[in-house]
Amino acid sequence: MGIIDQGKELLDLLQKIDNLDLYRRMLDLQREVMALDQQLRDQMRENERLREAFVLKGKLKFAHDAYYLLEGDQAVDGPFCTKCWDVDQCTVRIIQAADMRYMCPKCQIKLPPRLPSPAQLNNPPA
Ligand SMILES: [Zn+2]
Repeated sequence: MGIIDQGKELLDLLQKIDNLDLYRRMLDLQREVMALDQQLRDQMRENERLREAFVLKGKLKFAHDAYYLLEGDQAVDGPFCTKCWDVDQCTVRIIQAADMRYMCPKCQIKLPPRLPSPAQLNNPPA
């Protein structure tokens, strides 16, 4: 039984005792426990996100003002926006805009009109 369930049981018992002051204090305590439980879950999610970003960081290659995802020494995905990665550790695929320039759909940053695909990056023209 978890701490929140134990708190609920204790509240039920205190309600039977009919001590309003004790009941209110226990209710406040349970609210604080629930808030701490939520805070812990949020921290665990953030830790997992940072762990994944750390692993991904080792697989990104900067080239032509963008990032490319590597498997071994070969680029397999990208290009990704450098601003979105550097600021938010978020891989956002760069797309080609109507004016033929490349842009990030998240931060709207525009890039030069020639960005190599991962295959072109691996095998540049001679
Ligand atoms: Zn971006």
